Order: sequence, then C-alpha cells, then structure tokens
Amino acid sequence: MSNSVRVRFAPSPTGFLHIGGLRTALYNYLYAKHHGGTFILRIEDTDQARFVEGAEEDIIRSLEWCGIEIDESPIHGGEAGPYRQSERKQRYMDAAMQLVEADVAYYAFDTAEEIETMRERLKASGNPSPSYDSITRQSMKNSLTLPSEEVQKRLETGEPYVIRLKVPRRESVQFTDIIRGIVTFETKGLDDQVLMKSDGMPTYHLANVVDDHDMGVTHVIRGEEWLSSAPKHMLLYQYLGWEPPTMAHLPLIMSPSGGKLSKRKAEQEGIPVNTRDYIDGHYEPQALVNFLAYLGWSPGDDSEIHSMDELVDLFSLEKVSKAGAVFNYKKLMWYNEHYLRNQADQALVQRLLELPETNSLTGVTAERLLALLPLLKERITRLDEFFEMGTFFFEDPQVYDEKGLAKAGEIASSMVEVLMQTLQAHPKDDLTPEEYKAWLHDTAEAQGVGMGKVMLPTRLAISGTGFGPDLTPSLALLGKETVLRRLQAALNHWSS
Ligand code: GLU
Repeated sequence: MSNSVRVRFAPSPTGFLHIGGLRTALYNYLYAKHHGGTFILRIEDTDQARFVEGAEEDIIRSLEWCGIEIDESPIHGGEAGPYRQSERKQRYMDAAMQLVEADVAYYAFDTAEEIETMRERLKASGNPSPSYDSITRQSMKNSLTLPSEEVQKRLETGEPYVIRLKVPRRESVQFTDIIRGIVTFETKGLDDQVLMKSDGMPTYHLANVVDDHDMGVTHVIRGEEWLSSAPKHMLLYQYLGWEPPTMAHLPLIMSPSGGKLSKRKAEQEGIPVNTRDYIDGHYEPQALVNFLAYLGWSPGDDSEIHSMDELVDLFSLEKVSKAGAVFNYKKLMWYNEHYLRNQADQALVQRLLELPETNSLTGVTAERLLALLPLLKERITRLDEFFEMGTFFFEDPQVYDEKGLAKAGEIASSMVEVLMQTLQAHPKDDLTPEEYKAWLHDTAEAQGVGMGKVMLPTRLAISGTGFGPDLTPSLALLGKETVLRRLQAALNHWSS
C-alpha cells in the first residue's frame, strides 16, 4: 500500500448515525481529501447483541446526504476488504494466536460467577474497583496459572474461554496525539483486556487494531471517548510488531446546558440527534456540514461560511481544539437559513415538490411555487416551513388567530366591510402589489385610520394569522376574487 493518507470512519451499526459520529466522519473525510488520501468506511459489527438491522444503510445514506464521498466500504469495495468485521473473524483469531504464542496474551477459563466472586472478595478487602489484571490474574483460572496439560485438555474438550491481553504491571505507554500532544498512561490502571470473546468474536480493541493495520490506516481520527482505549491499542501494536497509526482524538460535543451532549440531553434541549432527523426534517446538508466542521475546529480567522471544497482546503488537525465544543442549535439554524436562501429557486421548487404538502394541498405546481418563493424564502429557516407559512396561498383559512383578532380590535369587522366594498368597486381585476397598496392606503385615509387598522384585518382575513409574508404582493398572488371571498368569509365569521 502506498504512503498516502488513509483514514477510516469505523462506526458500530448499533443504531442511527448520531451527529457526533457524523462529525467524526466529516473530520476524517476533510483530512483525507486535504491530503489527497482515501476515506474508508469500516463497519465494526462484532457485538452481535447490539447489532441493529438497517443501521449500515442509515450510515451510508447519511454520509452521502452530507456529500461525504466514500472511497472504500462494504458496498463501495476496495482492496483492503472485507470492510465488515464480522467477515474477518479468522484474521482476528490468527492475530490473537500470534499474541498467545508470544506470551503477551493468554487463555482464561473463568466463569462470570468466578470473576464476580473475585471482585466481591477484593471489594471486601478495600479495593474499590477490582479488575482482572496483572495482580488478580495470578489467582484466576487461566493459562498462566493452570498446568499446560490442563489448559490443553480444556481447549480440546471445547470449554469456553476468552483470550486476554497480558498487560504489564508497571509500564508507561506514551504516544503523540496530534490534538492533545504527548499522552501518557500507566499500565497499572489497565485491566487485562479481553481480546477474543467466548463466542469466537474479537472485542473492539483487537479487531480495531488488526484492521487499522491491515487496511493501511495512517491516521486514527475519532472521538475523545476512545482516548482511554488508546494505551491498550498501543500495547497491541507493539506486541504485534506493527507501526501504530498517528492518533487524533476529537473534543467532546457538549450540551448548551453543560455536560456531554447525550441523547437524553439533546432531546431535552430540542436538538435533533440523529443525522436522519436532519434528512427527514428537510435541513440543508451543507449547513449541517459547515456547522459540524466548526464544532471543534476553526480555520483561525473569523470566516464562517465555507463550502465542502473550501473546508477540504482549509482543514487541519492542528487547528482542532482540545476543549469540548458546545452544540449551538441557533447557530446551526443560522447556517441553515444561509444555505437555504442561497439556493437557486428552481432547485428549491424541485425539493418542495417532493414534500407531502404537494399532494395534500390543491394547486401546488412548479409555476405557483416559483412565484411564491421570493415572498417566502426570506422568512423561512427550514424548507418545510414554506408550506407552514404558505398554506394560505392554497387554502382558505379555517380559523383565525385569537391574538391577532384581539389586536385588530372591534373595528376589524367594519374595516373588512369597507375594504370589501372599495375592492369590489376597484376598476381593475388584476391588481398589482402597488395597486393593492394604494387601495389599502386610500381606504385607511377615507376612514381616517392608520394603515395598521386596515392591514391587520386584511392579513387576518386572507391568512388567518397576524403575521406572514409581505401583504400586498401576497394579495396580488392570491388574486382579487380570492381576496374578496376571504374578506367575506372573515366578515361572516367575525360577526357571527
Ligand atoms: N466502533 C467504534 C465506534 O463505534 C470505533 C472507534 C474508533 O474509531 O476506533 O465509534
């Protein structure tokens, strides 16, 4: 394999792709593309109990939606495959055997109850967090304590076993993390990590190291929550005689109210947490990309808006911060608004035509949408708000906003009555926005009231609400017949 940059995004298919995972994928992608390298998607599916059907498809769909192009994956193929860990079982067993033969890993036959008994015993004697380690292994049932014939016999009779890493008692493990600098861990705090489970599957640690090596991964870019696993990985690289990849552990994503942005916290704060929520919610993919890029990184100036290509140009791991990055949903919406408004009307129309309202409302056509877009585009933050705010262009209002009515006051009905008369008497059928403005103005003047006294009742009558897009162009788009019908309906309704 060549020396060029190879990175991987290695999610476990245990559910929908979380936005934290998406940021990890994005940083890997930006780094790879910045260096003309390769972005690999590897599916870490060794934990059968947590496997979720459809999760892999969700991950791929989410990455594609964001414009993250995958070079190698279970479905894109590649020379380093297979890219699903469940399809690489033999390779992990071979590596585990290599470690056992080198006397840096061992078989352990202890049952869950025996391990629990050991823990209880140690807890009782004052050890608050006992683990299976360099001290306790000596009193357990494993290939270090049992005679070799007995080990052989147990293996031959098919007794369940795991393979554990023989973590040295007192050693320092040190590595350089691009984001965190020199990181040092003492092995005395590490347990003898299980590498192969009794079901013949590797644990994350072994599979991850073997694959990163076999797939020629040059840089491991992943969330901070994996930092504590890194010393175990470093030991594995050393024992397997392999060069470890360069490490970069990304800062945590924090909730605005403090603490890690967990699923529960996100829900409380109204932050959608899965990428598919953003897809289904009709957010702008470039907005999410731009926002996530800045969630822990910045190019070092005060620029904020960058396309994916620009981000690729600007990105560097050296500029990723160590400190947790707060998820500011308002900022995300600011990006969303920006990317929404900067899209060509024709493209937006195509997307609007795919929304369910296109079928549930009458008269939704490309032409009509195109005419309405200039009015609504500037007022919405998300595409699906178009129909929320613009329903009245397709349907007569059924209800009238109470607050708006209260604000319009007693005078509203009599104003609507006069407005109807003056509009009916208007010589033109096809009024321009300016002509509607003149009509409102003239009516207000004749009645000796301010513009507000005629505009609010008109708005309420045509849309049912007290706010919305500019009034006079809205009236022109609705047309005189509809406006008159709605004024009449409001009058009936309000005075009944
Ligand atoms: N499978 C791990 C995850 O779900 C991968 C961690 C890593 O990148 O090493 O995030």
